[in-house]
Amino acid sequence: MSTSPKVIPFESSVPKPGTPRDFIADHVHAIPRSGIRDFFEIVQSMGDVISLGIGEPDFVTPWRIREAAIYSLERGKTGYTSNLGLLKLRKEIASYVKRHYHVEYDGPTEVMVTIGVSEAIDLALRAILNPGDEVIYHEPCYVSYSPSIALAHGKAVPVATRAEDGFRLLARDIAAKITPRTKALLLNFPCNPTGAAMSRADLEPIAALCREHDLLVLTDEIYSELTYDQRPHTSIASLPGMRERTIFFHGFSKAFAMTGFRIGYACAPVALTEAMMKIHQYGILCAPITSQEAALEALRHGHDDMVSMRDQYCARRNFLVAGLNAAGLPCRTPEGAFYLFPDITGTGLTAHEFAVRLLQEEKVAVVPGTAFGESGTGHVRCSYATALDQIEIASERIGNFVRRLKKG
Ligand code: PLP
Repeated sequence: MSTSPKVIPFESSVPKPGTPRDFIADHVHAIPRSGIRDFFEIVQSMGDVISLGIGEPDFVTPWRIREAAIYSLERGKTGYTSNLGLLKLRKEIASYVKRHYHVEYDGPTEVMVTIGVSEAIDLALRAILNPGDEVIYHEPCYVSYSPSIALAHGKAVPVATRAEDGFRLLARDIAAKITPRTKALLLNFPCNPTGAAMSRADLEPIAALCREHDLLVLTDEIYSELTYDQRPHTSIASLPGMRERTIFFHGFSKAFAMTGFRIGYACAPVALTEAMMKIHQYGILCAPITSQEAALEALRHGHDDMVSMRDQYCARRNFLVAGLNAAGLPCRTPEGAFYLFPDITGTGLTAHEFAVRLLQEEKVAVVPGTAFGESGTGHVRCSYATALDQIEIASERIGNFVRRLKKG
């Protein structure tokens, strides 16, 4: 289930004489299919499974946001928008980012509305990488980072994070991976799949390293509202000297339960926004206007709905952390996102064996940690974006499973 594709040298794309052509580019060949997708095809074929597998809110998008989308359709808003997105939305995003992250962007020129954070990350990588440029990122991490870097012809350079450090990223581990080809550092805190967050004090030495080595930071803060226990979220973009060397990504999928709207954004200094815009305007034109109208409503009036969902995630997190630890799977209480990353090494199974047997024997789906990179070995990801009553049953079933394993 490794997600690390090989970097294919460009010369290799010339077909060897006598070799039948399959027309697929070498670097696309080199990318493995997502291990999560294969696993969940099995889950879906089984029925009656409690899934702690998917990274998608179980909540329906709050009604006021859906209503804003419906109302925009009723008013006949069905056309293209500006390539960068509706100006009123970009201005609202700039004001939201200033209020919550303490970084100032100019709405008209430094904010771009995209098809989710997914598109924004892809655009940024394609805008900045020359073939062979290196991007450092922390692992275990969101499954798309390494393939996205490879698809942009870059070299993905993972840095392992460890349970004993609370899965925080350490500057000294990054420093050990910097080479003359390093162009950027890709961060995601709160983190999918570990739920780890970074404080200002954690981020400061990393920011200093980026300034010292003239690196760009790509920061995916899609889970930033989902930070618990009143813990403040700090964006690396807000640290001294960092705004000019950071692309900030955010979106509506997680905190506002809007995955299907496919809407997100990137904020960056003008030159970087312009470079991303060139790719976006030829490939995508603009994000759908209905989703942009819905996103505007989320930013203007969705706060209370978001807080109510966050409170429910927090209660679920507390319940499941206690359940996993009681079952004998050591699990820290993560600061954010909606994932737990318990250690399953005590069971004697690999992460893959654990996930397959738990599914077969107890009908509970979790994701093997190795789907998020080699450093996820010995762990599984449990998502608590699932109703509490389901989590209660899942927790009991996991307890039964682990007890059986330990007995025999
Ligand atoms: N970034 C991270 C860390 C994620 O976990 C996900 C989805 O799971 C995404 C980005 C994709 O977000 P979007 O729906 O905005 O494309």
